Amino acid sequence: MPSATAERDVAPHGLPVHEVVLIAETDADTGLSGATAGERLATSGPNRLPERRGPGRLRRMLGQFHNPLIYVLLGAAALTAVLGEVVDASVVLGVVLVNAIVGYLQEVRAERALDALEAMVRTEATVIRDGTAVRVTSEELVPGDLVVLEEGDQVPADLRLVRTRELRVDESALTGESQPVAKDPLPVPHDTALADRTNMAYSGTLVTTGGGRGVVVATGADTEIGHVHRLVGSTRAVQTPLTRKLARFSKALTVVIMGLAVVSVVIGVLRGEPFADMVTAAVALAVGAIPEGLPAAVTVTLAIGVARMARRNAVIRRLPAVETLGSTTLVCTDKTGTLTANAMTVRQVVAGGDRWEVDGIGYSPLGEHPPAPDAVREVLLAGLACNDADVVLHEDRWTAVGDPTEAALVVSARKAGLTSDDVPERVDELPFTSQRRFMATRHVGGVVYLKGAVERISGFTGSTDRPEAEALAGQGLRVLAFARARVPEDVPLTEDALHGAVLLGLQAMHDPPRPEALEAVRACQDAGIEVRMITGDHFGTARAIADRFALADGAVHARVSPEEKLKLVKEFQAAGNVVAMTGDGVNDAPALRRADIGVAMGRSGTEVAKQAADMVLTDDNFSSIRAAVEEGRAVFDNLRKFIIWTLPTNMAEGLVILTAILLGTALPILPVQILWINMTTAVALGLTLAFEPREPEVMRRPPLPPSLPLLTRALVHRILLVSAVLLAGSFAAFHLSGGPLDEARTVAVNVFVAAQIAYLFNCRSLEQLRPRVGLRRNPWLLVGVTVTIALQLAFTYLPAMNTLFHTAPIGWSAWAAVVALAVVAYGVVELEKWWRRRIKGRAEPALGAPSAPEARDESAV
Ligand code: ATP
Repeated sequence: MPSATAERDVAPHGLPVHEVVLIAETDADTGLSGATAGERLATSGPNRLPERRGPGRLRRMLGQFHNPLIYVLLGAAALTAVLGEVVDASVVLGVVLVNAIVGYLQEVRAERALDALEAMVRTEATVIRDGTAVRVTSEELVPGDLVVLEEGDQVPADLRLVRTRELRVDESALTGESQPVAKDPLPVPHDTALADRTNMAYSGTLVTTGGGRGVVVATGADTEIGHVHRLVGSTRAVQTPLTRKLARFSKALTVVIMGLAVVSVVIGVLRGEPFADMVTAAVALAVGAIPEGLPAAVTVTLAIGVARMARRNAVIRRLPAVETLGSTTLVCTDKTGTLTANAMTVRQVVAGGDRWEVDGIGYSPLGEHPPAPDAVREVLLAGLACNDADVVLHEDRWTAVGDPTEAALVVSARKAGLTSDDVPERVDELPFTSQRRFMATRHVGGVVYLKGAVERISGFTGSTDRPEAEALAGQGLRVLAFARARVPEDVPLTEDALHGAVLLGLQAMHDPPRPEALEAVRACQDAGIEVRMITGDHFGTARAIADRFALADGAVHARVSPEEKLKLVKEFQAAGNVVAMTGDGVNDAPALRRADIGVAMGRSGTEVAKQAADMVLTDDNFSSIRAAVEEGRAVFDNLRKFIIWTLPTNMAEGLVILTAILLGTALPILPVQILWINMTTAVALGLTLAFEPREPEVMRRPPLPPSLPLLTRALVHRILLVSAVLLAGSFAAFHLSGGPLDEARTVAVNVFVAAQIAYLFNCRSLEQLRPRVGLRRNPWLLVGVTVTIALQLAFTYLPAMNTLFHTAPIGWSAWAAVVALAVVAYGVVELEKWWRRRIKGRAEPALGAPSAPEARDESAV
């Protein structure tokens, strides 16, 4: 059996087709038999690249320690140990270890969520087995399989081409060459470089035009891309502009805090405090104040958001898209299949003054139908001849195989009693493309059938009067015109040769709107997002469908070619929009790439479109775009909620230590206790915000401008307010408790943690006084709170913990104070929300969204 490692002189590109076929033990016409393919799969293994291995477990674990802060902590632990404080030193070490484990688990989790996405967008291939074309997942391909390539396909394995038709392949994934390369089956010298092997199509490259067939010569890791894959290994960047910005923010903050720490050591020592105490205090300051968990938490929040979107059929291909989705101001959508069901049924056929009306929905060709007049039969025959689709009965349901438009034509013809036996053998064709907007097939004897957009077909037939077509389109029907021409078989089939064709008639088909899309379009509009229909279909049809969706006149762009799509995206962006644009064809790729969110169709879309897109809809449904926007906004909210929650904690911890050192008073919270708070609450409390379900308000406010800073002024004020409350609360508790030092500190720590719990509930909504989302929707929150309370009880009452953390049991009155202070803290924040809403009005809401979508007025034409 051949493989890519075959010796040079039998390398498939150097051999003529028949030898390749012989070596591969296959057949250039009928392919492998199903049985042989099955056997080969057992030996060759599935055609997929070996799992990308991230860094090994040990490497990843060690990576957690590679952080300046950790170095400082480790240094501090060593120093403390040398000074004889073995218990404190081991507590610090324990913290470092727990932090590393948590970081490790978060990283693994986030990566797993992202990896799972890849499996959701499957690549399929068409392969000839036992002489018939079947669709299989590309994993099922084996050496010797005869693969059919078509425009827009991703080459699923390394192929030696045996037949080509104007085939051009974009090999940039492999060779870096961005211009598509022309392919043909002719052998090339053995020593030809990879990029010049014009008779090979390599796995992972993309068919930009034309088509062909090739024999699989290598699969999986044996393919050329497999070799490259192995060399490069894996680095999945779970980074976005936002995470980078936050990482930079954390780093800057770290430097400032380190400076403060050094200053406080100097001040303390000058004041005569023991050096060792001051070092641990400084370390506590650093650990407390530096939001070291921030970037990781952001990644986890993004990953959870991505997983939620995937559950709602929107698969994110590029992580930054998650952030952009929340700011989307304009969604440009296809009509067919996205807003409509793409379940076409011909309703009327018009020919030679006759009108034939048929009923029925879906693709069932059965039932009683009125007899079709001869002129109508000719139209129906043209529709059946100029056709690559079929309908099959699958589990009691008639379903379309191939293009739904063409399947509808098969059904209408069969309703009149025509079958494929009535169609003369096809010898030649001009395939349908979105640019060409028609298709032609030549049959034995030179008769050519044409079908396509009415304007295109009348261009060939010379008829200009099209009131009938306009009337049908006005009812929202998709209208195709049919014509017949005669082009002798020895004359090349070109568009020029078709002039003088005879118009046969029209078929008008119904494609119902998707009910869930109706609702989703409205939801987007309520959320301040404009929806426009960009379609290749006729204006009348588009307009009639747009009416169903209550889209304004200016929101419909009909007969748009892929090039015009790109132009539209640019125009919309120039007007200040954040644009989401759908697409499915090869030629849509530039528009998808250019759009802020390129959206490809998972079912009907080509591989090329999927690769260019930021997001793939697994159900091709508009309502999934809405879902993605909704989740995108929710992710952004949750990020802010987490940040708003965590920063005051960090600030207050730093301030508690700093204030005590500066005032020269006893520390109300000891360094090890700060470590304890940080270690337990960041995970048990803070991270639960990542699981918050979206608030119902997310789709009731205008999109947030992308330039909006994460922390608006209102939110910075809140952070400062809460820091002050935490600082005052812990000092007050410490000084008012009256008991011995250990007890007073235990109370202070408990006040701090209780206030954090209370504040967590404040943070469930940044603006609303009473979140509309029930607590039951986020069970993690309650789990986190319960765990935190249990930990605090252990921290307070377990003798071992008392020794480790210098704590002491406290009484009921102390707990009452703890609870009371927490309630006060909660009240203060709610009061601030209320004040902002009532007194300051809506001019400056906490979320910083503009009160009216002024920026989009000019686009609402
Ligand atoms: P949308 O862009 O919303 O998906 P669409 O499906 O109508 O709309 P295209 O697929 O580009 O867009 O089709 C453009 C036009 O080409 C159609 O309006 C129809 O007149 C014609 N057409 C569509 N499918 C075929 C086909 N298989 N053969 C011939 N002509 C077709």
